[in-house]
Amino acid sequence: MKARLFPASTDQPTTAFSFGVLKDFHLQTLELKKSAYDYLGGLTNNANPDGVPNPYAQFLRVVRVWRMLMMHQRSGQAHGIDTFFPHRPKGNMAVSCPTCLEPGVNMEEGWDLTDEDLKHIIQLYKSINGNFQLQKKKKNDDPDDVALMEGLGYFPPDLGYQEYLKRVGESKECTCAHLNAVNMQDKIKFKNCDITGVVGIECRHILIMSMVDLQKGERCALHVLHSELFTNI
Ligand SMILES: [Zn+2]
Repeated sequence: MKARLFPASTDQPTTAFSFGVLKDFHLQTLELKKSAYDYLGGLTNNANPDGVPNPYAQFLRVVRVWRMLMMHQRSGQAHGIDTFFPHRPKGNMAVSCPTCLEPGVNMEEGWDLTDEDLKHIIQLYKSINGNFQLQKKKKNDDPDDVALMEGLGYFPPDLGYQEYLKRVGESKECTCAHLNAVNMQDKIKFKNCDITGVVGIECRHILIMSMVDLQKGERCALHVLHSELFTNI
């Protein structure tokens, strides 16, 4: 690491990626939507035409850890930022909106004593949006594919969320008139899915605040939206 080389494994590593490559790929995948496969193909095909093994699997693994470390650093967690924001969730690595109202950060003291007729001025706006295309089909998962963030980013910790889902129980038919379109949806598209979509909450400045996976398609998701879920996220 001191030589600015990131080992591809922790036990007797023989392969490493330079910090420069990892930094460059991170930038390119965020800005250009470049996939790891294409990025690595560009590097290895040009530089090593003589059959040097393609370290694709190792690269994918290292990139995941690299991204997590970058989040840890840039969120301030590596520098003990929780000391200065004790009201935020401990270990939180999500980007907080600097403009949205946050008691203790950008609001004057005594804001909670505002007169009733002026309270509307200090509202926090959130919008909720679902994407029902972002699915995960049922398939055999890699048992070693563990979460690196586990609740410290935008998604809640899996264990706590699964327990919450048990409490929610089965969904009921949504009775809201403006949601009738939901009942016209093709239910087949949710068949054989572990995750049928995602729902995200964002502030009015379009910064994501939190997200959850959905398990039972669109109708259930909307039912859940009307329930207690969003006070929990
Ligand atoms: Zn905001």
